[in-house]
Amino acid sequence: MDNAAFAAPVPRALATEAVHAGREDLAELGVHAPPLDLSTTYPSYDAAAEAERIDAFALTGGRPEGPPVYGRLDNPTTARFETALARLEGAEAAVAFASGMAALTAVLLVRASMGLRHVVAVRPLYGCSDHLLETGLLGTEVTWTDPAGIADAIRPDTGLVMVETPANPTLAEVDIEAVRHACGSVPLLVDNTFATPVLQRPIRHGARIVLHSATKYLGGHGDVMGGVVACDEEFAGRLRQVRFATGGVLHPMAGYLLLRGLSTLPVRVRAASASAADLACRLAADPRIARVHYPRIGGAMVSFEVYGDAHRVIAGVRLITPAVSLGSVDSLIQHPASISHRIVAEGDRRSAGVSDRLLRLSVGLEDVEDLWRDLAEALSAQPVRTRTGAVRQIRPVGL
Ligand SMILES: *Cc1c(COP(=O)(O)O)cnc(C)c1O
Repeated sequence: MDNAAFAAPVPRALATEAVHAGREDLAELGVHAPPLDLSTTYPSYDAAAEAERIDAFALTGGRPEGPPVYGRLDNPTTARFETALARLEGAEAAVAFASGMAALTAVLLVRASMGLRHVVAVRPLYGCSDHLLETGLLGTEVTWTDPAGIADAIRPDTGLVMVETPANPTLAEVDIEAVRHACGSVPLLVDNTFATPVLQRPIRHGARIVLHSATKYLGGHGDVMGGVVACDEEFAGRLRQVRFATGGVLHPMAGYLLLRGLSTLPVRVRAASASAADLACRLAADPRIARVHYPRIGGAMVSFEVYGDAHRVIAGVRLITPAVSLGSVDSLIQHPASISHRIVAEGDRRSAGVSDRLLRLSVGLEDVEDLWRDLAEALSAQPVRTRTGAVRQIRPVGL
């Protein structure tokens, strides 16, 4: 027997995993691109064996060995994406869903089904995540707190602590290790959509569950919607059972596109982050900008506040697309109080730092000088802060 085959695998760098994870069997299959399996069902002449595999799934939620039985249970193309994302996050497993919200729903249902209906969460969160918790739509109850208040907010029926870091849309950061400590035995969920595993791997810092809206950076081209949870195999089994029962599966085509997206994730995130850091500096030095939010860990998102009417900036961009969402190869700008966080009550929005003057910019892969020109042009109607600190409207000469 060849002992080398049993040696621990040499850990590979993230950039290498991004292009190889989930694709290890391709050469053996005699193909270069991953096969796209669109089957909804799989033939089997052995009904007894099929029954055994279904029983095994009902017990643990482990991925069925052999063909998947039915498309709602498992799909080989989607499984490649799950394997790759788990590897990038340093997790045992990952389970993919039809969207980020479907993924969060499944996490909440897993905990609620165990009688743990209480959630402790830190604002701000993505607007719809906030809404899902605040309304208790899934029979959960939320206590909002700041990171320092987590330990005190935990009750015997607390099933989850949820944070987003950097948070949408203020880019506020949470110290994952400190929060994890405050959680005790309650699982900590970190929404890692903004950072991606390129900038931050929350499991290394003690998070049990990592959530992604794969619609954003993982897909990266604004043409695929999906969600994914990276976690340990035990929790993944529960998630697969909930996915099977509630049906929020990722389409295999989306799984294919997300796997493809992962291969360029490190280069996309690093290039866009360099431009974002540059734009954050220019904005911070600009007298038309009241405040710039840019995370310490970096990233391709920049938020900023103007002195005047933020809607005029949205109306003034030409190269940057005024649209909700983020993480695409092209730059997008939106007004959180009007769109991404509209669903959050005004008072809650304000106290979480989402003012009416805040704009959220998702920096893409365009040339940074072109982006700055577009932004500066869109800002031209904004009042400026003078040297004395007063804010005044400067009228362009000739008007
Ligand atoms: C967009 C987003 C979500 C929701 O994901 P969908 O794919 O739109 O369902 C969750 N969290 C964050 C941080 C997001 O930006």
